Amino acid sequence: MATSVSSQPSHDQLREAFQAGFYSIDDGDGFYFGFHAFLQEHGFELREDIPCTCSDNGAHGHQPECRWVKA
Ligand SMILES: [Zn+2]
Repeated sequence: MATSVSSQPSHDQLREAFQAGFYSIDDGDGFYFGFHAFLQEHGFELREDIPCTCSDNGAHGHQPECRWVKA
């Protein structure tokens, strides 16, 4: 399944999303609050209805950005 690669967050966007997550930890909201908010602000959404988008298909657990694709 190589169809959704281009709709996933870029490496740079993920790096910024992780940073946003760490900031929201500092604010007391937890990692995912900031991480998900950043991705949503950049046009991504969590798709529960699509297969895992992890590079290793979740073999070692799902990454925070799993199933986040362009809305
Ligand atoms: Zn996954």
